[in-house]
Amino acid sequence: MELREATPEERRIYYTEEWSPGEIPDFLVASIAQREFGFDHDGTGPKDRYNAFPDVNALAGFLRERAPYSAYSSVSYYERPGKREGYLKAELVFDIDAKDLPQTLKKCCKAGEVCEKCLDIAKTFILTLKDIFEGDFGLKNIHYVYSGRGYHVRILDPDVMDFTDVERAYILDYLTGSQELKGSPKVDRWLAPRGYTRVFKDRLLMMLEAATAEDLMMVEGIGKTTAEEVMRNKEQIMEDLKGWKNFAIETDKKTGVIRKRRFKALKDILGEARYDRLTDFVLKQNASMLDAKVTVDVKRILRLPSSLHSKAGLKCMLIGDLESFNPLRDAVPRFVAERRD
Ligand SMILES: [Zn+2]
Repeated sequence: MELREATPEERRIYYTEEWSPGEIPDFLVASIAQREFGFDHDGTGPKDRYNAFPDVNALAGFLRERAPYSAYSSVSYYERPGKREGYLKAELVFDIDAKDLPQTLKKCCKAGEVCEKCLDIAKTFILTLKDIFEGDFGLKNIHYVYSGRGYHVRILDPDVMDFTDVERAYILDYLTGSQELKGSPKVDRWLAPRGYTRVFKDRLLMMLEAATAEDLMMVEGIGKTTAEEVMRNKEQIMEDLKGWKNFAIETDKKTGVIRKRRFKALKDILGEARYDRLTDFVLKQNASMLDAKVTVDVKRILRLPSSLHSKAGLKCMLIGDLESFNPLRDAVPRFVAERRD
């Protein structure tokens, strides 16, 4: 199926014949009166800001009448949303856009483009976040949204909504793996599968799985010979990572606290300095996948679930079952499915 931009006529058909307010998630309906809404009417960006609606009917009337190119709502709640005044609290959100995936993972299409394969990579990434949020953090009020070209994670647990921007940045650090986890050989077997190291291991694994020798050569100090040696030993390296085994552990002699934990097969090839440069490289890539501005800046607006992503010609929508969700089957508007050209 070819993804292409929706015409103004198709937008009108979508909002008058297909869209229904029942597709707006309950968590948004319940807080409509406290959110700021933004609209893009011509594809040049959401310039129509500071809109507020008293209820879902008022919003529905606006969408049906204007059939906007894009529709957004704030992640923040305000006393006076139409003025963006009286900040109350904000969802914690994460945005993974398939068009911006790092080059080492995205080998299917050009930067800025999106296809079935990179949408799938983005979903794999979201599934690892789901494990962390629901498993490690025990969060309950989490919603997964297909954004039209990627995924949003929206968290509304009460204590999380009160996080400051500093606390939001801290969570982001944790997810990219830049928080060090301290342990000792004795407690390592409990600590190791959790926290920073597991998050980081998952990312390293994802990157190495897709990596070519050329990708590895993007890391400072890794030349052709070394990169090819890593590729030759990839099976063993991946096995260590997957099984979470065969570490070279460096401990502080006095306290016994672990200072560094390196996968042995990979460390034997790279040595310590280049190993650490590779892990720094993966950290940076992780950070680039999670758009920090979206998570930390509570003034942000996010695409409204149920609205049309006109550029992609797909629906932005709340996802029921993330594992089985397939955007190119589940987020296709009727007018696209019925296109004959
Ligand atoms: Zn692609």
